[in-house]
Amino acid sequence: MNIWARWRRIWLRMRGPRWRYVVWHTAAHGNAQTGEVYDTTAEQIRAWHRARGWRDIGYHFVVRLTGQIEEGRPLNERGAHVEGLNRVAIGICFSGHGDLAPLTEAQERAGVNLTVALCKAYNIPYWRVIGHREVNELIAQRLLAPRYQVFKTCPGRLVDMRAIRIKVKEVLDALQE
Ligand SMILES: [Zn+2]
Repeated sequence: MNIWARWRRIWLRMRGPRWRYVVWHTAAHGNAQTGEVYDTTAEQIRAWHRARGWRDIGYHFVVRLTGQIEEGRPLNERGAHVEGLNRVAIGICFSGHGDLAPLTEAQERAGVNLTVALCKAYNIPYWRVIGHREVNELIAQRLLAPRYQVFKTCPGRLVDMRAIRIKVKEVLDALQE
C-alpha cells in the first residue's frame, strides 16, 4: 500500500462513517419444517456474531416481531452486515425469517418509521433503502464491484422492498409538507 492510500485509510477511520444507505436484513431465524419464526433478540444475534469472532453485533438495529426496536452497534461505528458497503450503510435486522413469514405489521411499521428517521437524520434518499439481496442490483449498475455479489434472499422472499420503499417515500413526503 502506498503512503497516500495509507493516509486515506487513517483519515477515513478518523472521520467515521458517512451514512448513504439503509440496508434491511432478516435474522433468518425460524423452523423451515414448521414455518415457525422466532422473535430473535439483539442479545442473541450479538452472541452469534461474537461466536464468529466479531467484537460486536454486526447490525445497528434489531426490529422484533412486536415492533420493539433494539439497538445494536452504535451509529458512530461502521457495522458488519453488507460486504462492500459497510462503511456507508446502516444495518437493520428484522427478527424472524423473511423466507418463511412476512414481517409482522408492527414490525414493518416500526421498520419504516426507523428508516424514515435515519433518512431524515443523514439525508439519505428513499431509493437508497435496500434489501441485502439488492446489492446485486448495485453491482449490475456498476456501483459496486462484482466480488460483493450476494447469494441469499435476505431480507427474505416474503419481504417486498419496492413496497417498503414506497412506504418510506410516502412518510418522508408527508414530513416535507
Ligand atoms: Zn442480510
